[in-house]
Amino acid sequence: MSGENKTQQAQPNPARKTLDDRNKMSDLERLRHSAAHVMATAILRLWPDAQFAYGPPVENGYYYDLECSHRISPEDFEKIEAEMKKEIKANNVFEKLTVTREQAIADAESGRLGGLAERSGNASKFKLDLLNQIPEGEPISYFKNGDFVDLCAGPHVMRTGNIGAFKLTTVASAYYKGDEKNPQLQRIYGTAFKNKTALDEYFKMLEEAKRRDHRKIGAEMGLFAIDTEFVGPGMPLWLPKGTVLVEELEKLAKETEFAAGYVRVRTPHLAREKMYKTSGHLPYYAESMFPKMEMDEHRADRQQIEACITELEKQLADFAKKISERKSGS
Ligand SMILES: [Zn+2]
Repeated sequence: MSGENKTQQAQPNPARKTLDDRNKMSDLERLRHSAAHVMATAILRLWPDAQFAYGPPVENGYYYDLECSHRISPEDFEKIEAEMKKEIKANNVFEKLTVTREQAIADAESGRLGGLAERSGNASKFKLDLLNQIPEGEPISYFKNGDFVDLCAGPHVMRTGNIGAFKLTTVASAYYKGDEKNPQLQRIYGTAFKNKTALDEYFKMLEEAKRRDHRKIGAEMGLFAIDTEFVGPGMPLWLPKGTVLVEELEKLAKETEFAAGYVRVRTPHLAREKMYKTSGHLPYYAESMFPKMEMDEHRADRQQIEACITELEKQLADFAKKISERKSGS
């Protein structure tokens, strides 16, 4: 996650956390997840129609996915942060309430869940769906801070005032549950720390990392160019100066290896599937290292072909029905 205020690609949606996973949440994760509740409270004060989905802690912060008539942009962050400050200053308790499934469904239908009040005609549709994912027999709980009531199993910090320092960082878009067939939601990222010193240190570290970014330094020194459009990110095109460095390093490596008694071999870049099965990579890393390539233009073709097949199947079924009707009629 970057500390810049910009629209970015959302991280994939995490699977629903089990109660066991939740108990393992670190203190910082609890604090950050609590900040997500406070952010939702603030957003609802500004745009009461907002419907919230997932709001987990993530590496370096937290996010909350929402649907809202207002398109939230980084220009809104100051306003949202001001409302969050009020909620933190109020030092409301994160109060846990255990409810029956019937009660929870009724509250979701009235728009009360993930809201500051009942919202007639604006049911808490994502909360309703999340409720259906809670296994039968697992307790259903709410957490309430001030007027905000959320469907949540916790854990949180004790009070909103325990959130020492926070900052909203980016907006992104994400499909509900990470599935492109589902509605596209707004994902607001933020981060939170125990105190302002830790928060400031984090953003300072990000700035320093940006200054030392090899991609920036390498380009400035004329060592390489990166063309994300035609080649790809992380795939440098070595310019003359950079090529000298690469070759000098190769030479040093060869000399060092030779001095140590190594002999060099050369292998092809690719091999048959059997080789990766023997090496043990394929069975474990099929998804992460060797995913099937699908070009966007082919995806469109495939979808078109699938639509054609569906239509033809439908026509065939209609035709078969007509034939059987004619037969039974005669
Ligand atoms: Zn929660």
